[in-house]
Amino acid sequence: AAKEESEGYRFFTEEMNQKALERMRLERSLRTALQNNQFIVHYQPLINSQNRILGMEALVRWHHPEYGLINPSRFIPLAEETGAIVSIGKWVLHTACQQTKLWHDMGYANLYVSVNLSTRQFKEPDLIETIEQVLEVTGLPSNCLKLEVTESGIMENPDQAIVTMHYLRAKGIRFSIDDFGTGYSSLSYLKRFPIDTLKIDRSFVMDSIQNKNDQEIIKTIISMARTLNMEAIAEGVETREQHEFLIQQGCQMMQGYYLGLPMPAEQFQERLDIQKTS
Ligand code: C2E
Ligand code: CA
Ligand code: CA
Ligand code: CA
Repeated sequence: AAKEESEGYRFFTEEMNQKALERMRLERSLRTALQNNQFIVHYQPLINSQNRILGMEALVRWHHPEYGLINPSRFIPLAEETGAIVSIGKWVLHTACQQTKLWHDMGYANLYVSVNLSTRQFKEPDLIETIEQVLEVTGLPSNCLKLEVTESGIMENPDQAIVTMHYLRAKGIRFSIDDFGTGYSSLSYLKRFPIDTLKIDRSFVMDSIQNKNDQEIIKTIISMARTLNMEAIAEGVETREQHEFLIQQGCQMMQGYYLGLPMPAEQFQERLDIQKTS
């Protein structure tokens, strides 16, 4: 038994070494990824109940020279820890606003872009300056930029978040609460923040056809949004049944594989072109 234990221990540490090593490699290459132009932004359509694209969410991808295309769930947490998210986030914001302005100039004038803000970015003292600068440089009207924040993101330093959000809201920038329904903040508390949109978390939409509880949660969020004069966007719509259910409930906006995958700008533009001619 003693031998087995020590073997187990050896394997355990080897596995840990392996993990730590991979993490270190990833962390090192993450540091140079931005200057090596390894990030790209994909766009996923945000679609209204009449099936029109009104906007898109900007989603970053990392094109790693060895590992290929890496999804954000694998490197965003690491980038948060190391602080790299701040410069990556700035780059995403700039790229997304620039692209949206380009589409405006091509005739898609009211298109808006929704950009994720990580908790770490939200704590940066020059966040406001960064955003104002990006809008000025790209020429994108402020009412065509939405920022997606999470409950935990704004609750880490709520007083500062309230001030920052009110300032930016006064400039015309709008805010979504991402993954809504998964946090623990009270409604009366959230009311203090200038929020335009509640994004119904994918987990509720996923089981909405089978699970009565999830249906009730979705209904509640939609009616809550209506009462508070907010918009509700359902995330992760994957099937026709889910889409129909959400339409029936009066959900105004939707996002998901059923309606459009996240895609490179050129491909998104083709979608826009089809919409224009139909
Ligand atoms: P999120 O903000 O909740 O973004 C939605 C995620 O759901 C995206 O994953 C999207 O590809 C995926 N998705 C969309 N429709 C469907 C669907 O119908 N079914 C399923 N199963 N998934 C769907 P992605 O692109 O892998 O991004 C994961 C997370 O990484 C995002 O979650 C967001 O929290 C973070 N992220 C992505 N881009 C950025 C960024 O530029 N900055 C920051 N701070 N975070 C980002
Ligand atoms: Ca998001
Ligand atoms: Ca989300
Ligand atoms: Ca999510």
